[in-house]
Amino acid sequence: MDTKVIDSRTIEDGQTIKRRRECEFCNNRFTTFERRGTTELLVIKKDGTKELYERQKIKKALLLSFAKRNIDNANVENIINDLEYKWSSEANEISSQQI
Ligand SMILES: [Zn+2]
Repeated sequence: MDTKVIDSRTIEDGQTIKRRRECEFCNNRFTTFERRGTTELLVIKKDGTKELYERQKIKKALLLSFAKRNIDNANVENIINDLEYKWSSEANEISSQQI
């Protein structure tokens, strides 16, 4: 029930997250392959309308803001994976402000 994530990386073109996990009770280590579910995330915009979440939009914005820093594509993919994982585990809707 409780595991610690030791390592997390994106495989298969950003669609799957491979996570190395450790059981907090017996320290047994194992690997999970987590795919995005079929439930799509909805973004609630300022005017109250909803649109389907688009990964590419976030990626574009992040790449722009990291342009002058030494953060590569793989890191950006990992950041987005972690955010998506967090967002979709809370609800299937999120406000654009929160994003
Ligand atoms: Zn265990």
